[in-house]
Amino acid sequence: MTVFDHVIVGAGTAGSVLAARLSTDRRVALVEAGAAPSDTDIADPLRWPMLQGRAFDWRYATVPQSATAWRLHAWPRGKVRGGSSVLNAVAHVRGHRSDFDRWGVPGWSFDDLFPYFLRSEHWTGASSPWHGTGGPVHLVQVGPCHPLVAAYHTAAPSLGLAPIVDHNGPALAGPTANTLTIKDGRRQSTADAYLTTAVMARIGLFEDALVVGLAFEDRRCVGVRLANGTTLRAERSVILAAGAIATPCLLMHAGIGEADTLRALRIAVRADVSAVGRDLHDHLLSGGNVYRARRRVAPSRWQHSESLLYAPRGGAAPDLVVACVVVPVVTEAFAAPAVGEAYTLMAGFSHPRSRGAVRLASADPTAAPLIDPAYLTDPADRAAFLDALDLAQALGHAAPMDDWRAEEILPGPACTGRVGRLRFMEHAAYTHHHPVGMCRMGTDRGAVVGPDLAVRGVEGLFVCDASVFPSITTGPINAAIIAVAERASDLFARRAPATPWSPPAP
Ligand SMILES: Cc1cc2nc3c(=O)[nH]c(=O)nc-3n(C[C@H](O)[C@H](O)[C@H](O)COP(=O)(O)OP(=O)(O)OC[C@H]3O[C@@H](n4cnc5c(N)ncnc54)[C@H](O)[C@@H]3O)c2cc1C
Repeated sequence: MTVFDHVIVGAGTAGSVLAARLSTDRRVALVEAGAAPSDTDIADPLRWPMLQGRAFDWRYATVPQSATAWRLHAWPRGKVRGGSSVLNAVAHVRGHRSDFDRWGVPGWSFDDLFPYFLRSEHWTGASSPWHGTGGPVHLVQVGPCHPLVAAYHTAAPSLGLAPIVDHNGPALAGPTANTLTIKDGRRQSTADAYLTTAVMARIGLFEDALVVGLAFEDRRCVGVRLANGTTLRAERSVILAAGAIATPCLLMHAGIGEADTLRALRIAVRADVSAVGRDLHDHLLSGGNVYRARRRVAPSRWQHSESLLYAPRGGAAPDLVVACVVVPVVTEAFAAPAVGEAYTLMAGFSHPRSRGAVRLASADPTAAPLIDPAYLTDPADRAAFLDALDLAQALGHAAPMDDWRAEEILPGPACTGRVGRLRFMEHAAYTHHHPVGMCRMGTDRGAVVGPDLAVRGVEGLFVCDASVFPSITTGPINAAIIAVAERASDLFARRAPATPWSPPAP
């Protein structure tokens, strides 16, 4: 048996950060079900949509969704060193201050996390107190934008949306070019950023190593069991960073979850923590609003989506988002026009109220779980999604887009009225790939982990990945996961956390 201080399960976004930061003075094992990335398409940010379904994707799917026309939604997740940051669309958006303050968990407000955002970053734009330099994550802002995207940015002020400098400054609402995790023209996964040669030399890296169980002595988690029969022992802690789907499943297989459900699966109950697997929520985007272009739409030089435009809807944080994408994007329910002939304004909303769950299908740790995000089941989400479509169409039909717009293809002029528009959105909806919440942190007795990320009801076991977010942030979540893992690494190493601060409002 091999012994470490910390055994980290999952070399994805959070696991890469934790392994790098904890291994400076601790013995760390990093255990990953996948292998080192070898597919040459991974490095090209333009090829990110093509990576899904390949050997390094877990290829999850939801159960049929009653409020999206009973469709099954594909849920790609990385099974590879770097995890889902190897499949992602490289957008880097921290989120809005209120996203973190709303969590209400001591130590995890925006000001608590701000120093960790800075610590993680190497911002290549103009210097400002809002950006970090010298950190592992290499950030570039798209520029100059594709001419279609430049026109789109000009359209926004006519709707009262003033431009902002970038997504990670004092304001989030308004048009701006995306900030991307790209270095030397290549995707920089979180593993590329943090698992440097020096880090790799000092950790125990176990790849192609599926964790099938947690080892306990009484109430204390003391290690993990691998599919090949090996046990890795942790003298200080086991940290689950296996991602929003696998982490709650590992807990439930270890008997930590809702007692009656576990008993029904003949899993011995270790701790009755009913919130494990629950509170699942995710961002949706729409495939369409699609426009036929008056002239050929050249490919992006960066990533097909060069602009995520956030817009307010009454709350403190923006709640609507429209992505300007220079290719046609549709779901399986619609026919796609040819690339080069059309473009898409993808509509979404940031703060879903629908809550679903991930459940075990059986006691077999290698069986795929049942994933039910309960998309659009809350009427407030349907209303927000329709408002997002309204905003996309207002932008798409604004005067600065006249030079680009030949006609609206989807939903198209024949799609009118609330019922018809909702039916379109039910068929156009697909995941923005941001599931969170299934191991919610909090100070209440219902939370799965406390502010120290320790799992309730047992000892020596911690969670650090997207599953601990009590509620989703306004934008894509990778940046926030990195910051959470940065701060968690200080907690796990018993180092004093950084002093909370953020620049004064301008
Ligand atoms: C297609 C796609 C596009 C996205 N686009 C963006 C974007 O542009 N911007 C953004 O901010 N976010 C984006 N995201 C989301 C973001 O990348 C993820 O939320 C983030 O990477 C999740 O980090 P994590 O640490 O929680 O989990 P992951 O990065 O998924 O890491 C979990 C790791 O654990 C491993 N693992 C799981 N089970 C086991 C086991 N039993 N044993 C051993 N290892 C195990 C997995 O193989 C994986 O490597 C996207 C995601 C996807 C899939």
